Amino acid sequence: MPDIPSETGGVAQRVEELRRLIAYHDDRYYQLDSPEITDADYDALIGELRLLEDAHPELVSADSPTRRVAGAPSPLFSPVQHRSPMMSLDDAFGLDELHAWFDRMGRIAPETASAAFVCELKIDGLAMSLVYEDGRLVQAATRGDGVTGDDVTANVATIAAVPERLTWPKGRGRRPTMLEVRGEVYMPVSSFEQLNQRQIEAGLKTFANPRNSAAGSLRQKDSKITASRELSFWAYQLGAMEGGPAVASHSDGLELLRQCGLPVDPHVEMVQGTADVEAYCRRWEEHRHDLDYEIDGVVVKVDDLELQRRLGSTSRAPRWAIAFKFPPEERNTKLLRIMVSIGRTGRATPFAVLEPVFVGGSTVGLATLHNEDQVRLKDVRPGDTVVVRKAGDVIPEVVGPVLSARPKRARKWHFPTTCPSCGGPLVRLPGESDTFCTNIDCPAQRVQRIVHFASRGALDIEGLGEKRVVQLVEAGLLSDPGDIYALSSAPLVSLERFGDLSVENLLGAIEASKGRPLSRLLVGLGVRHLGPTGSRALARTYRSLDALMAAEIAELAAVEGIGPVIADSVVEFLASLANRHVIDKLRAAQVALFEPGGRAPGARAGSGGSAGSARSAGARDAGAGDAGDAGDAGNADDAVGLELPQTLQGRSVVVTGTVEGYTREQAEEAILARGGKSPGSVSARTWVVVLGTEPGAAKLKKAEELGIPIVEGPGFRALLDTGEIPGT
Ligand code: NAD
Repeated sequence: MPDIPSETGGVAQRVEELRRLIAYHDDRYYQLDSPEITDADYDALIGELRLLEDAHPELVSADSPTRRVAGAPSPLFSPVQHRSPMMSLDDAFGLDELHAWFDRMGRIAPETASAAFVCELKIDGLAMSLVYEDGRLVQAATRGDGVTGDDVTANVATIAAVPERLTWPKGRGRRPTMLEVRGEVYMPVSSFEQLNQRQIEAGLKTFANPRNSAAGSLRQKDSKITASRELSFWAYQLGAMEGGPAVASHSDGLELLRQCGLPVDPHVEMVQGTADVEAYCRRWEEHRHDLDYEIDGVVVKVDDLELQRRLGSTSRAPRWAIAFKFPPEERNTKLLRIMVSIGRTGRATPFAVLEPVFVGGSTVGLATLHNEDQVRLKDVRPGDTVVVRKAGDVIPEVVGPVLSARPKRARKWHFPTTCPSCGGPLVRLPGESDTFCTNIDCPAQRVQRIVHFASRGALDIEGLGEKRVVQLVEAGLLSDPGDIYALSSAPLVSLERFGDLSVENLLGAIEASKGRPLSRLLVGLGVRHLGPTGSRALARTYRSLDALMAAEIAELAAVEGIGPVIADSVVEFLASLANRHVIDKLRAAQVALFEPGGRAPGARAGSGGSAGSARSAGARDAGAGDAGDAGDAGNADDAVGLELPQTLQGRSVVVTGTVEGYTREQAEEAILARGGKSPGSVSARTWVVVLGTEPGAAKLKKAEELGIPIVEGPGFRALLDTGEIPGT
């Protein structure tokens, strides 16, 4: 909380300054669709202004941003007078402020304590008013300053989710001559990601977030551009209506909109009393990333329209609604330095060292800058205040600089020409966006190759993280992944931070890793361009590393999901002497070089002593994994050297949430090992959806919409074994 200056003169000056700053950022946000600061930092400016005005009422003016709807109509579009003002919403940051809102309402109308509330997701897009006359869309307007908006009818008409004509439901009485719908235009996250991918491929600057992309896409003079951006729409309120039936509650208004064919978010819920409102807010704060659209909070509305009228509005927002805001996923902070990290393939990735900031649920001190072009396009410089974004599990990234806060002395940053680890040259090939250290002996690459080999998605060796690998490389005990299997107790216990127990655990984890399937080994070897899906496709086709090593490029390229680029990279990798040397070490250590479910005829995978490894590989593949289910292990033993029954041949099984006894990867592998497919999203081609705990709401909804059978988690085992959907 900022200190309130003691002198009124000082306060008046700060109030003026805050209003100027807010007007500047309003312009960037509402007119240019290109904000410089984050919403959280903008909200902090508003919060400070409100605090000063509360303490000094003589400084309040009717046009203060705390008293009016922010934004203004744009000279680019024809003005539209709204039939009734399009208001803003008051915010509640946290549950205490939510309860303060209940208390405020209770003082005006005590019955709100047990009233019905409609809880809705706060869609992060831009507000829209749609007017239908005799059931036909005649006008779409932005909020503008709340009284006058911009006419964007031609652009909104390109949005598939906005019906051009309404269907009037039977039994609803007289059709209105005019009906106004209020809602939010937004850009789905998947469309936003595709848009940014296209920008990157074209060497253009990426868009900051779906909200700004939606606003920028809608406020175009050329509606063809809007049409190409895949915008969507949720209706959230029935506005003015002429000649239609009486509507007594907000929820009834939403139901009418739904019946007319307008899209209403299916997650809207009516609840009774404050405890259920709180539960809804908590639930969606946790699940905000399960959706294909961004939400920045929950909007809670009193349901009864008569009670709404009694509660009334201020000049800026209704008293009967509140926006419960989630903690921010974008914050401003200082960029201290830009450095370059070297990955396992030698790729040099620039990253920002930041003044630590709490964002997206954790404290962030480092954030990626992707590559040289992105640093140049974003023009971020050491010393800048920058916007940092961290959403869900995504790696934190620097979105861009706050130009208005750039220090005069901030100098452009240039990509280094030598590797910070080995001092060798950094090379960027023509036509490529990435820069590489090409020295195969570079210590940083060495460390990253070993770390990657031991990581969860690969050989999964617990206790072999980056810090330890650096220590072991420096001690001369590791120089490539093959050396992991030569580690022994005596040299390890003499090292700092290696106690007897931790050495025992590490050696146990290394031993267990020998049985991982070929697909995971291929991931671990870190062949350029070859990801987990391609690794699985190769492992399924060739079954053993020896068979894969004998394959020709053309043959590999013909494998589904591989293609010439990956095939070329695989052959080059396996032909390299250094890599063959690593493979020899793995073979000598009896690491399983084959996929359970059958070795290729004549393959030399494993020797007699590797039977134990093969067993554990099968056990993991069959889904027992670390859960150690005896029944699974039995199945898996049978599977070694044989095909697992292909119970799911050609079928698409989508798993959502966590199924007991399986990690996400194990569930996927178990499906693939039985001939099935395990895509990440539900589509009309999905055969069945397996429902674990904490499933993704979007997948579940899609499955329900498409009428796809759903199997509860405990039925997964039977599904794998029989290929039949339990209970059908
Ligand atoms: P708001 O965005 O906090 O709330 C009002 C808006 O919520 C409505 O106009 C509507 O568009 C939207 N909304 C989404 N789902 C809704 C639902 N289910 N029901 C009703 N409304 C729903 O308030 P505002 O006045 O539009 O904007 C202020 C906010 O905008 C700030 O708090 C800040 O987050 C952001 N802003 C940021 C900057 C910046 O520079 N970063 C500048 C200006 C404003």
